Amino acid sequence: MIEVRGLTKRYGEVLAVNDLNFSVRPGEVTGFLGPNGAGKSTTMRMILGLDAPTSGTATVGGRPVAEHPVPLKAVGALLDASAVLSSRSAYHHLLALAASNGLPRSRVDTVLKEVGLSNVARRAAGTYSLGMRQRLGIAGALLGDPPVLVLDEPLNGLDPEGIVWIRRLMRRMAAEGRAVMMSSHLMSEVELTVDRLVVVGRGRLIADTGMAEFIASV
Ligand code: ADP
Ligand code: ADP
Repeated sequence: MIEVRGLTKRYGEVLAVNDLNFSVRPGEVTGFLGPNGAGKSTTMRMILGLDAPTSGTATVGGRPVAEHPVPLKAVGALLDASAVLSSRSAYHHLLALAASNGLPRSRVDTVLKEVGLSNVARRAAGTYSLGMRQRLGIAGALLGDPPVLVLDEPLNGLDPEGIVWIRRLMRRMAAEGRAVMMSSHLMSEVELTVDRLVVVGRGRLIADTGMAEFIASV
């Protein structure tokens, strides 16, 4: 569902992403693991068409990602949730997102319910805790009912209940046949959730393996 081939991004002297090759398959949650600065966010931004690769390609659902954002119907994305700082209510935020993507208004109520924000949806998103902003970010990712989810550090800022909730959500999305990619800098966050593990360090691929094989190998 996501194919990354020779993907490379250079910022001046820094090779943020260095010749990455991996796939994210439908029906699986793929963990994208690596320390801070390893190139995870840069890779995800290129998969989403938010950044242009220096070289190489990312393909989503068979279509090469050009240098413009991939539509919400094709890929749902959670990027840095702390960026959702707004005087707009969650409801209005999602309504605007739905309108600009040609999605029906009814999807807003559906995803608000799905992420458990219906009761606070009229409050300004700027007053939300980090965990609530993560839930709002997830709501945006689910809005287009997409076959692919790209989630950058989705467990960030969530309380234990929120962590269990998002794990179940990701497992359910995969069980429905979607391809789910989640990044983390913590093994403890991915080991209970993912089917496959893609490990990166300093922009390079370190491992690409089934979770069970990985556990057996260490
Ligand atoms: P991660 O998400 O794994 O923490 P990033 O993709 O954010 O890693 O960053 C990878 C490397 O690229 C880091 O060295 C970071 O400083 C650098 N980098 C990321 N974005 C930019 C940018 N816009 N300009 C310059 N360097 C960047
Ligand atoms: P404003 O303050 O600009 O009047 P509101 O927050 O009152 O905006 O909401 C504008 C519209 O969105 C109204 O029709 C309102 O009923 C509807 N609305 C707001 N929040 C929700 C929600 N959580 N679920 C359903 N409809 C909502």
